[in-house]
Amino acid sequence: MRPIQDAFPLLQKNRRVFITTHHKPDGDAIGSMLGLALYLTKKGHLVTAVSPSEIPDFLNWMPGINTLINYEEKPAIAQEGLNAAELIFCLDFNDFSRTKYLEQMLAETTQPKILIDHHLFPKPVWDYGMSIPEKCSTAELVYDFINLFGDNALIDLDIAACLYTGLMTDTGSFKFPVTSASAHLMASDLIHKGLDHTRIHEEVYDSWTEGRMRFLGYVLIEKMEIFHKYNAGLISLSRKDLNLFKTQIGDTEGLVNYPLSISGIKFATLITERSDEVKLSFRSKGNFDVSAFARQYFDGGGHFNASGGRTKTTFSETIVYFKKILSDIHPK
Ligand code: 5GP
Ligand code: MN
Repeated sequence: MRPIQDAFPLLQKNRRVFITTHHKPDGDAIGSMLGLALYLTKKGHLVTAVSPSEIPDFLNWMPGINTLINYEEKPAIAQEGLNAAELIFCLDFNDFSRTKYLEQMLAETTQPKILIDHHLFPKPVWDYGMSIPEKCSTAELVYDFINLFGDNALIDLDIAACLYTGLMTDTGSFKFPVTSASAHLMASDLIHKGLDHTRIHEEVYDSWTEGRMRFLGYVLIEKMEIFHKYNAGLISLSRKDLNLFKTQIGDTEGLVNYPLSISGIKFATLITERSDEVKLSFRSKGNFDVSAFARQYFDGGGHFNASGGRTKTTFSETIVYFKKILSDIHPK
């Protein structure tokens, strides 16, 4: 993969650009995609931005959100945008399989592909890119990309709001160890430009439905197990649990972090039963590498302190398997 600067000449004339991100997009996926889409549009490019799946409600307020195409709703329009594109940007993932339904069509493309991402171990399928695991968020890399192009002055309040959302959500509101000085410098620059950071925090974190709040109460009382001898916590949610509270997409967001707020707990896992697979989310504090853990046992990956994976076995078998591994490895 060549450095992203080598792709700059391709953007010297107006292009048809396709941008996409990972399946089940989060704040960084959508924030970085919209930030880049708004910036490239401002430069005169014609952008098609596609989310592989539904966009969670807590991001509905974002500037440009209505221009995003949900592949599950409009696959033909997404495919047309991809066919017509002269350049393809892939944001916040580094393996086509993370886009689920878009995997095949991305693999078949022949146009130049550009990666902007911060996960470990990128697949060697991109022509150009920035792949920096030390960066807290893809949003910060999009900000760096705009600056490398010499376009800091083009970052308006809409672009700032999108990029700040990615920065804030992927750093856990500036608390995770990946939150470097450069992340704070970026926030400082955006606030200098007039960004209302309190409003963005409220839009993302204080926009729950009453049902979601009561679901959280149920989960913490009924569904969380704490294994003090392993410094670990586990939340497991079956389809029945999810249906009980008619949870919406995004309602399980952040649940995995709760066990880590208990003193001594260093490793937290959320197991969710989905229609087509059992999904696992892992978070850790300190020196337990959950990315390696997800790769080794659950066909997944991610970051050192935040990762995910899956099984193709049943929900209850997954719980048994997970607990067996936990007792075998004793993460500290
Ligand atoms: P989450 O638990 O929020 O789904 O994911 C946590 C982090 O791990 C995110 O950065 C996400 O991109 C990454 N991740 C989640 N699932 C997978 C997976 O199956 N494979 C890989 N490589 N990364 C994943
Ligand atoms: Mn990210």
